[in-house]
Amino acid sequence: MKKTLLALTLAAIAGAAAAAYPEKPITIVVPFAAGGPTDKVARDLAVVLAKGLNNQTVIIENVGGAGGTLGAAKVAKAAPDGYTLLLHHIGMATSPALYRKMPYDTLNDFEYIGMVNEVPMTLIGRSTLPANTYPELVKWLEANKGKINLANAGLGAASHLCGLLFQQALKIDMTTVPYKGTAPAMTDLLGGQVDIMCDQTTNTTGQIEAGKVKAFAVTTTKRLATPALAKLPTLDESGLKGFNVSIWHGMYAPKGTPKAIVDQVNTAMKAALKDPEFIKRQEALGAVVVTDSRLNGAEHKKFVAAEIDKWGPAIKAAGQYAD
Ligand code: ASP
Repeated sequence: MKKTLLALTLAAIAGAAAAAYPEKPITIVVPFAAGGPTDKVARDLAVVLAKGLNNQTVIIENVGGAGGTLGAAKVAKAAPDGYTLLLHHIGMATSPALYRKMPYDTLNDFEYIGMVNEVPMTLIGRSTLPANTYPELVKWLEANKGKINLANAGLGAASHLCGLLFQQALKIDMTTVPYKGTAPAMTDLLGGQVDIMCDQTTNTTGQIEAGKVKAFAVTTTKRLATPALAKLPTLDESGLKGFNVSIWHGMYAPKGTPKAIVDQVNTAMKAALKDPEFIKRQEALGAVVVTDSRLNGAEHKKFVAAEIDKWGPAIKAAGQYAD
């Protein structure tokens, strides 16, 4: 009898705590620089997510560096109270294969809330490159071996993964220039300080439309429907058979965040990802909003585990590690 009473009291306390949540602003940590693709998704999502979270302010905190691992580590160590969340991308799954010492355990230090979207990538170059098409780019790369600067957002970033597989496929080594995100990398590409970059369409579409960068190919096996990108060939059809890199974003909370709060954020996310304006903005940038079962913590965790298994061997074969 006593046990039942205690269980009921605890359930009532947990219920009351969840009902009160959120009663102050929530911070979403973005593990890359402001203005980049992960940041853009987070800021866009924050606006619609707030509606399902008592209209509380959702603040974005950019903690860039080390391919996203610094920001993710900050969330892994944050108080598990629902006021610190993480929006991360495929780096969640690629970093474990790249770092000898990870500052967190990807599958055990987080509560998984759900997947947000899928985003293809594009291979772009500075506007002053003499090449205009993908075959011309390959010729230029062959002719400039040892002098090519490839920008990325650090080891473990999506741009790193894509660039790594691209170099491997072409058998051309390039000098990688790491940034805290692809927003600052884009600034240098626009300034001509670096030559090429592989980055999400959410960051490159506007610059391609404005003619400020040269676009050479998309990294998915299918061409894209977005008008500004529809003419671009795939790397697969351009000779790099099987080249297929499409990235995704997901939402996480520190391990130990009460289930009621995780569920509440998940419910708010489900509503946010149905918002027609959010969907329209994402689609205009080439992203596909997730509406299926992957928008569920347990399913997303299974997906990330499968991604770790998928990318780990390819990254290890490329032999790139950081301590
Ligand atoms: N697009 C970046 C990457 O390469 C990350 C970012 O700046 O959002 O992973």
